[in-house]
Amino acid sequence: MILFGHLGLTLAAAESLKRVSGPGLKGLLQKADYRILLLGSLLPDLADKPVALLFKNIFMGASRLYGHTLLFSILLLIMGSYLWKRHNSAGVLVLAFGATFHQLLDGMWNNPATMLWPIQGWSFPAVERGDYLQYLIQKLATDPLTYIPESAGLAIMVYFTVLLARKKQLAHFIKSGRVRSPGQ
Ligand SMILES: [Zn+2]
Repeated sequence: MILFGHLGLTLAAAESLKRVSGPGLKGLLQKADYRILLLGSLLPDLADKPVALLFKNIFMGASRLYGHTLLFSILLLIMGSYLWKRHNSAGVLVLAFGATFHQLLDGMWNNPATMLWPIQGWSFPAVERGDYLQYLIQKLATDPLTYIPESAGLAIMVYFTVLLARKKQLAHFIKSGRVRSPGQ
């Protein structure tokens, strides 16, 4: 998954959870700044891709590094839970939700050496793929596991934006990251 898959599917997951979850999670999601959620949905790639590009020779083509490990999610979740409980501040927990969901969407269980880093060793598995941009374009053009989630994610983002615009909430959302519930 590249960009819209992560953004759109994370947004859809948060909105669905808001409807079906118990009061604790619902309370958190109602308080959530969706701009932070969307940032979290891209955080593992934002953290890892620049490092992988800068230190190509060290990481041997691997582009999923520390941000794609369970350890990264657990540390964010612990920090987020502490801030939520102690200071009623939801930001880091929302970021953790987005980042953990990113790892799920990336199917990190297929790459246990990275997911469980550093249990199986300090290095990340080398990847042979040539030019990264070319690799992405080829995946988008030929791999249904890439172009279907990307198209679905883009459709969800467009739908959400149109819905906000029709409710005249777009400016409010951009400023606050929140959707006004009816009556507010
Ligand atoms: Zn990723």
